[in-house]
Amino acid sequence: MMTIISCITVEHDITLVLLAGILCGFGSWVTSKLYRHGRNRSERQAISWHLLSAATAGVTIWCTHFVAMLGFRPPVPVNFDLALTFASLAIAVIGSAIGVMFAAMVRMRFAPAIGGAILGLAIAAMHYAGMIAYRVQGIVDWQEGYLITSVLLSVILSSIALYFGSKSDKWGEYQMAGALTVAIVCLHFIGMTAFRVAPLEISGDFVNPEAFKMLALTVAGTALLIVMCGLFSYAIENRARMESIVELTAARNAAENASRAKSEFLSILSHELRTPLTIVLGYAGILTKLKESHANKLRKTGEPIDLTTNLLGDQAELYGQKISFSANHLLTLINEILDYTSMELGDAKLDRSSFPIEELLAEVEDQFQVLAQEKSIKLLVECDDIIAFADRGRCLQILINLVGNALKFSKGQEITLRARREKTGFRIEVEDNGRGIPEEHLDLIFEAFKQLEDPDNRSEGGTGLGLAICKKLSIAHGGDISVQSAVGTGTTFTVSLPKSAIDTKARRPAKTLRVAG
Ligand code: ADP
Repeated sequence: MMTIISCITVEHDITLVLLAGILCGFGSWVTSKLYRHGRNRSERQAISWHLLSAATAGVTIWCTHFVAMLGFRPPVPVNFDLALTFASLAIAVIGSAIGVMFAAMVRMRFAPAIGGAILGLAIAAMHYAGMIAYRVQGIVDWQEGYLITSVLLSVILSSIALYFGSKSDKWGEYQMAGALTVAIVCLHFIGMTAFRVAPLEISGDFVNPEAFKMLALTVAGTALLIVMCGLFSYAIENRARMESIVELTAARNAAENASRAKSEFLSILSHELRTPLTIVLGYAGILTKLKESHANKLRKTGEPIDLTTNLLGDQAELYGQKISFSANHLLTLINEILDYTSMELGDAKLDRSSFPIEELLAEVEDQFQVLAQEKSIKLLVECDDIIAFADRGRCLQILINLVGNALKFSKGQEITLRARREKTGFRIEVEDNGRGIPEEHLDLIFEAFKQLEDPDNRSEGGTGLGLAICKKLSIAHGGDISVQSAVGTGTTFTVSLPKSAIDTKARRPAKTLRVAG
């Protein structure tokens, strides 16, 4: 350790050592800023930022080395092979690019550490290539211990630097800059301690190192300019990004307000429409039963029912039934819109209770059995023993929507309702072997008011809200809904619910599978 300190303080011009150190720290900080900035960008943009970060690292490594070399005062005259010295700059930049790109772009657990090791080797390769370009009139003796230590430290510290740079906490930037600075400085000065030279007789055009001071300042100035360019690019891009984030936030708030206003409008409208519709339904009911109530009245007074009254009564019953049918349909649509908008406004609350999933599936099966038989569709139920802790009414609503859709749209021969326990909770599937949904529509169907542009579907009515409501209800339970489908093979909707939707304390006799036809 004392040998290294003495190498720095006695064998170097301390002003240039400090200049190299400051350059190294500043350049490492800019490298770390650019590297971490690139990690938060999309893959395409990230490449440019990582290349800029690698170029900054390369220039920093090389300039630290070169300025410190110019500050080295061996007891002999020295000179540089300038072509080889500048070739070592290429080694630094290319090596840094490979290391940085590997650390940032390769999807592997230890990629930052491996990328860091590559960067560490690049620092060492640059330094020792630079030393080959350093010409001294003396006998050079390399001390292997220091040489190996310098390379090892460079590899380990650079790995630590890129590991810090990959962490998302706010100190990562400074930790990476610090580790990289120490890696470069350690490699250089331990490497210089390994370099021992004994004087020979002076001959040839060797230059006094004092003459290099101007060159050192020029190189340091140029390096500073290059590093500053990197920093400015970052500052300009970051400012533009911040401005666009502000604009996007304003646009998102405006869109959210507009959506809220739409939901509130739909909610009020649906409420207002329901009141007169209830009256229409009431009068339609009276119309349907008009003949019967009139006949009852006449029976009490003993008057006979004439033919015209009979005929008018039949007509009234038919019209009443038609009005009731349409009004009920309208009421269902209004209720769906009201339901969806209240969920969008966050008014829908879950009323959780414990219930066996098997009973829920049995209820859905009962509700649809007649309709399924009319359409010659087989309804099957497969169920694990699960006691749910969820809003039973809302779960029923999800399943009615899914089974109703399978009956309406699938045109298959079989629908299976399945509940399965999983490590993460449980899932309920509704599978049909019908016509399936084209892949490009799979994301669309969960959007509100979206129906597939198929005249066949249109004839089945609906608002296009069923699946959007299912999604909101699944998410409200802490789960989600997904779909898998292949055209001509069938469709499976899967509602996944988390462990919190299972009542783990409730115990029932073990029972696993129930299959009904
Ligand atoms: P709605 O039932 O009111 O039309 P949904 O949101 O429930 O609205 O469904 C959206 C669309 O998804 C339907 O219009 C239908 O075209 C399609 N769809 C839903 N379930 C199935 C299914 N099992 N098989 C084929 N298509 C389906």
